[in-house]
Amino acid sequence: MTNNLYDLNFEELENMILALNEPSFRATQIWQGLYKKLWGDFEEFTNLPHSLRELLSQKYTIGVLSVERELLSQDRNTKKILYSLEDGAAIETVLMAYNDRDTVCISSQVGCAMGCEFCATGNMGFIRNLEPGEIVEQVVKAGIDLSAEEKSLSNVVFMGMGEPFHNYQAVMKAIQTLNDHRGFGMGMRRFTISTVGFIPGIKKFIKERSQVNLAISLHAADDKLRSTIVPINNKYPLPELMAACNEYLQVTKRRITVEWALIEGVNDSIDQANKLAKLLAGKLYHVNLIQLNPVEHYPGKPAEDEKARKFKEVITETGIPCTIRLRRGIDIQAGCGQLASKSN
Ligand code: SAH
Ligand code: SF4
Repeated sequence: MTNNLYDLNFEELENMILALNEPSFRATQIWQGLYKKLWGDFEEFTNLPHSLRELLSQKYTIGVLSVERELLSQDRNTKKILYSLEDGAAIETVLMAYNDRDTVCISSQVGCAMGCEFCATGNMGFIRNLEPGEIVEQVVKAGIDLSAEEKSLSNVVFMGMGEPFHNYQAVMKAIQTLNDHRGFGMGMRRFTISTVGFIPGIKKFIKERSQVNLAISLHAADDKLRSTIVPINNKYPLPELMAACNEYLQVTKRRITVEWALIEGVNDSIDQANKLAKLLAGKLYHVNLIQLNPVEHYPGKPAEDEKARKFKEVITETGIPCTIRLRRGIDIQAGCGQLASKSN
């Protein structure tokens, strides 16, 4: 099997080039070709000697993703792309255009081991971790897509398929590659990692002192309810999760976004809102409410608008900023939690 150039960080690329007895500036040329010019074919690297191009193309590929299908929402603001990978597995990426920015929502795993009841990816089960290069390439491809429209990528969110902290090293390596100022140069603050509350990952992340944003998918404010909809809560219960979040706040002084999918009659009560407000009061949190996106295997319904509004009121009255997120790309199953490569 050939290797994927996107798997390498700059130092690894440089070592590879030196091992071929080539001068190290070749590594810079390749890195810039990959991440500044966004070249996807060795033919395009005309600044390299032909022999080196030949050699590279025998040992390496530039990427492994191939587009299986693209769906555009009716309002044309959301695009879902289904990619197949070398082993036949598939993942989805979602491009979202807003007035002032363009965001790509990427996957970190094929499937997910966390089994949240209301999530289509969770329903697939865990298939495998993505390699760093498979993560990097989703973002590079989004960049290529946008540059064709003379736009550029503003944000990258790990809110596609998978639990990013369950594939910690690959996710961090991909972020570092994309951040590298010699190439893609995507600022750390433009990334957001969303986690279900995988505490070992949060602890490691605190030590990084990274400027990458953190979002925690809470969905319930007591252990009894949370364990029923987010099974990993049995292993990492709320008091421990909140302690880890508070440690993050203390160390980094950066705001945490709390994600909450409002499900009718399940977690949309004033009682849950009060409990959540109590958990967060006085600390640097922001709450993002999203009315559940419908998924095939789960009977839950989105909370009604009025319920969402009241829930929000309780949170904002405590002094915690709270927004009701606009649901995007529902008509093409591109909303949060709707990504599952096999079901549609
Ligand atoms: N595994 C990570 C990131 C991927 S899921 C996590 O769980 O945070 C991205 C977001 O979509 C999470 O906040 C998740 O809880 C939410 N989500 C999952 N299923 C959903 C659904 N059916 N409707 C709305 N949001 C959903
Ligand atoms: Fe996994 Fe996140 Fe879906 Fe839960 S919500 S199953 S953690 S992808």
